[in-house]
Amino acid sequence: MGGPGECPDRDTPAVTADAPDSAPRGIVSPPFGPAAHRDLCTDCGISRTAEPGACARACQFIQPDYPDMETRVHGRARRMGASDERFFGPFRQMLQARLSPARTDAQWTGITSRIAERLLETGAVDAVLTMKPHPEDAWRPVPVLVTDPAELANCRGMRMGYAPLLALLEPARRLGYRRLAVIGIPCQVYALRRLEAELDLDRLYVIGTPCSDNTTTERFHEFLALLADEPDEITYLEFRADYQVELRFRDGRRREIPFLYLPISRLPPDFFPLTCRTCVDYTNVLADITVGYMGGQGEQWLLVRNQRGKELLDLLGDELVASTPGSGGRRRGSVRGFLENVRRAAGGMPVRRMPDWLRPLVAWLMPRIGPRGVEFARARVEMKAVETILHLRRERPRRLRHMVPAHVWSLVGPYGLSPEPGERPERSGSPNRLPRRGPPTDGIPR
Ligand SMILES: Cc1cc2nc3c(=O)[nH]c(=O)nc-3n(C[C@H](O)[C@H](O)[C@H](O)COP(=O)(O)OP(=O)(O)OC[C@H]3O[C@@H](n4cnc5c(N)ncnc54)[C@H](O)[C@@H]3O)c2cc1C
Ligand code: SF4
Ligand code: SF4
Repeated sequence: MGGPGECPDRDTPAVTADAPDSAPRGIVSPPFGPAAHRDLCTDCGISRTAEPGACARACQFIQPDYPDMETRVHGRARRMGASDERFFGPFRQMLQARLSPARTDAQWTGITSRIAERLLETGAVDAVLTMKPHPEDAWRPVPVLVTDPAELANCRGMRMGYAPLLALLEPARRLGYRRLAVIGIPCQVYALRRLEAELDLDRLYVIGTPCSDNTTTERFHEFLALLADEPDEITYLEFRADYQVELRFRDGRRREIPFLYLPISRLPPDFFPLTCRTCVDYTNVLADITVGYMGGQGEQWLLVRNQRGKELLDLLGDELVASTPGSGGRRRGSVRGFLENVRRAAGGMPVRRMPDWLRPLVAWLMPRIGPRGVEFARARVEMKAVETILHLRRERPRRLRHMVPAHVWSLVGPYGLSPEPGERPERSGSPNRLPRRGPPTDGIPR
């Protein structure tokens, strides 16, 4: 693991296994080099390539330019003002959906891995870059190149941690794969898109998942150990949109724990690395399609962002059962309470202060009157924006100026957070400069 959580890039050692010289069919884990030291880094894999210096132009943690990248990838930047794009980035269609039948071992119903399967089945791509579970620790992600659609069943589910997915771009090209699909989390997808033009691919499909509160696999095991007497028996964990964490065990048992009862206060202050407390893209805005759950009220939540994303959705045909996502409750109070908790925690874990006797009542009320559906997703995006500002202010104040896009400032504006002198670029050409007008209103009732 890295130092105090900022540089987990050394977590995954260089792999020196024999590289396949001719294109194999199936699933391979080609070798990659060692990680270069970086300050804020989630080891997306770029520092392990033949050109580690590419991090300077690829990295989300240096000076991201979301308006430019959204325009390059989707043909336009997000709409601000009353649109939900202010929260979720550009999209053409937002859906609540599930795959029928749901796939075994999937994190939700398996939409993500099924899209990739269909790409291989239909011959639209030569290979898929994604993660499989480590053979000795199923929670640890291992980057793989998949060419046999049947192998994607072995990649289903969520792993906690980072692994250098983009280090496989070079082996993929050496093997002659020119049409690729990548399943990635936002910090991987940002770097991928920044370098896309240089990759000289014939086709690239990007299937993104939202991501928040990631940590190293080692640290995640500490969390599991606080949740159950036999943590090694836990095979599944998800923070659901109904304010419960769901656990599944090897013997088939399931357990639900209300968020309020999680042992957050027993986690060390640096449990979440600074990268994951401050990254600015929760919903994977540069993917062709984002497949998550947080606006889905118990089902999955899809953002189809461009024409290629529509192609990906269409590959599912009538296996996909989709509807318009619902929305309920008001997020303002929850986000304000969260902001106060983050402030009070002063860099540690945002533990909710509440007498024990009140917890059962609040845990019962939250799914009923708290933000639900799309409003829940908006609340989570705003909470993440609040965390970004407060943690950077405290731990890397100089980074605020270049790392925080203008749209993130607009999300925190209604909660009384605005840039202080030196926290935003002054040059008019800078991507992260704020527009002159005040914080936009989104027209959504609070
Ligand atoms: C660390 C993390 C945090 C997340 N947080 C949220 C959240 O807050 N809100 C939300 O809506 N969704 C979140 N997601 C996404 C969500 O958990 C599901 O992955 C998503 O809804 C897809 O479900 P599925 O059934 O379609 O996926 P599946 O068909 O089961 O496929 C999952 C795919 O994700 C890949 N994958 C698994 N773990 C990782 C990893 N660590 N890094 C990169 N790729 C991986 C797998 O290899 C597989 O290809 C998170 C995902 C991760 C990895
Ligand atoms: S581009 Fe990737 S490898 Fe490079 S510093 Fe950023 S996260 Fe780390
Ligand atoms: S929370 Fe952000 S920085 Fe951390 S792994 Fe997820 S996308 Fe990357």
